[in-house]
Amino acid sequence: MSFERAQWVWHNGSIVPWADAAVHVSAPSVQYGAGIFEGIRCYEAAQGPAVFRLKAHLNRFYASAAHYEIQIPYSPTELEDAVRETVQRNGFTSCYIRPICYYGNGRPGLLAEECPMNVAILAWPWGSFLGAGAQAAGIRVTVSKWTKFHYDMLPTTAKACGGYLNSMLAAREARHRGYDEALLLDVHGNIAEGPAENVFMVSQGRLITNDEGSSILLGVTRDSVIQIARDLGYDVEIRTMPLDELRSASEAFFTGTAVEIAPIREVDGSLIGSGGLGPMTAKIQQAFFSAVLGTDKRYFNWLDSVAAPATRQGP
Ligand code: PMP
Repeated sequence: MSFERAQWVWHNGSIVPWADAAVHVSAPSVQYGAGIFEGIRCYEAAQGPAVFRLKAHLNRFYASAAHYEIQIPYSPTELEDAVRETVQRNGFTSCYIRPICYYGNGRPGLLAEECPMNVAILAWPWGSFLGAGAQAAGIRVTVSKWTKFHYDMLPTTAKACGGYLNSMLAAREARHRGYDEALLLDVHGNIAEGPAENVFMVSQGRLITNDEGSSILLGVTRDSVIQIARDLGYDVEIRTMPLDELRSASEAFFTGTAVEIAPIREVDGSLIGSGGLGPMTAKIQQAFFSAVLGTDKRYFNWLDSVAAPATRQGP
């Protein structure tokens, strides 16, 4: 996992070499974390490279911007084309894609007045985020001492740069304690989410996940999994998830663009179910990969084809 193979960045309408997509230290986005971003995946699908749920991700990008009164200076169609161009110009057939809209330098102050808005799109090859095997064997998580900030503190449905300091603290604490990932509770002590993942559990044969009332980001993978699970005939319940219920669940898993679908094997030393990939998780995971890899026609409309990779050349 590295940026080494990423050569080109889409930056304010042009493709520029990676090293040229720079920002000045006076920018409010550096000073205050003022910006919004997305995380998207392109898969090497049966029909060729395809971006998974590009429109849904860009919808969230504009919704995140609206929460912070940020005007993205490009239309959704322009950004769709820009995403494809970024993937093509780098010659990737599968990759992670990171659009970001941020304040450039301008006047000092929290209002960030007269600061130009910039948009950049990065792309780089990124395999399984929690390591090879996480999707089969499952991961070990620990309940973080850090609470997920409440939606009254910052809009949790917005994917905003500064909010990720909360995620960073939790993720680092989990690694220091020898776990793969953190689980953050909300201010009421119920499950919120992982640092970059939504949480599902299986309890009494039903699939359960929470919603924005639990101060979560509404994940695109979460939405896809809800639909896939219903298509598979499972009952999906959307409600608050007490921590005790997770501990006694028969299965649990994380969802997210980076992590995809990773079973949660244990929480703070106690096994979830039999401590591996449970049967419902396995079925959902399999259907999810058929969707992203373009082998299930029910989900073809979730894929946005990227034309054949362009040969590399200067901007
Ligand atoms: N919660 C948080 C805090 C996240 O950062 C992410 C990753 N974007 C998710 C959940 C999962 O969202 P998605 O499935 O859209 O990647």
